[in-house]
Amino acid sequence: MNIQTIIKMLIDSGIEEREAKREVKMLLEHFCNYSEKDEILGRKLTEQELELVKLKVQARLADRTPVQYIIGESYFMGEFFKVTPDVLIPRSETEILVTKAIDLIKDEKLKNVLDIGTGSGCIACTLANRTDAVVLGVDISSDALRIALDNVTRLGINNRAVFRKSDLFSKIRDDEKFDMIISNPPYIPVGTDLEPELKHEPQIALFAEENGLQLYRKIVSEAPNYLKTNGRLIFELGIGEAESVKAFMSEYFEDVHIIKDLSGIDRVIYGRLIEHS
Ligand code: GLN
Repeated sequence: MNIQTIIKMLIDSGIEEREAKREVKMLLEHFCNYSEKDEILGRKLTEQELELVKLKVQARLADRTPVQYIIGESYFMGEFFKVTPDVLIPRSETEILVTKAIDLIKDEKLKNVLDIGTGSGCIACTLANRTDAVVLGVDISSDALRIALDNVTRLGINNRAVFRKSDLFSKIRDDEKFDMIISNPPYIPVGTDLEPELKHEPQIALFAEENGLQLYRKIVSEAPNYLKTNGRLIFELGIGEAESVKAFMSEYFEDVHIIKDLSGIDRVIYGRLIEHS
C-alpha cells in the first residue's frame, strides 16, 4: 500500500482529486506528523502509518464524515481550531470576512466587538488574537460554546475573547455597546438539498428561514441598539443574498460595501451606523 492507493480510495468514492489530495495531506500531518518537508526529505511512511491513514479514510467514507471531524481540528487563518459536529467547520470564505474585520478594527482603532453565532469561536478568537480589540462571542448552543471555550484556552487569550450563551441579543444588556458587530449567520435557505458531508454539521448553524435571510433581518434590526456612534456591522453572505441584506442594512447603515470572494460571489457586506441628529 502507498499514499496513491489511499488517495484513489477517496477519488473512487466520488471525491474530487484536489480535495482527495488535500484530505490525505491533512490526515498525514495530523496522525503521522508527516508534512511536505518530510516528503521533500524522502522520509518513508511505515506500513503502520499507512494503515492508520487508510482506517481514517475508511471512516471518512463510511458515512461521509468531513475529514475535519475525523481529525478533530480545522485550520483557519493560520491556527488550528478544535471542531466537533457541534460546530460548523470554519470555511475559507470566512477568512475574507475576518480579514476585512481586522482591517476595520485596526484602521478605526475599534475596542470591542460582538460576534453573533460564534460556533467554534474561530472568528472571535482570531480577531482577539490579531488586534487589540476585546471580543464577546455569543451562541444559542451550549455545546458550541464548550468548543469555543476550548479554542480560546488553547490560544491562551481567555481575557481577550469571552463567551456567553445568548440567542442573538437576548442576553446582551441594554448598556452594553460595541464598536463592531460581526456575524457569519446560518444563511442556507431551509429545504436546500446539500452534499452528504454537510449533514454532519449542526443544521442550526447552516439553515435559515425566509430564504436564508431571517438572521440577517433580525440582527440588522437590533444591531443599532447595541452599537456605539459610527459602529460597524459586518456579515458573511450566502450566494445571491447581497442585495436583500443591503436593503435591510440601508435603513440604519451607510457606506455599505460588498466584497466578492475568489469565485466572484458577493461574500461580505459591511456598513457604518447612521447617526440621527
Ligand atoms: N462563527 C462560526 C464560523 O464562522 C460559526 C458560524 C455558524 O455556525 N453559522 O465558522
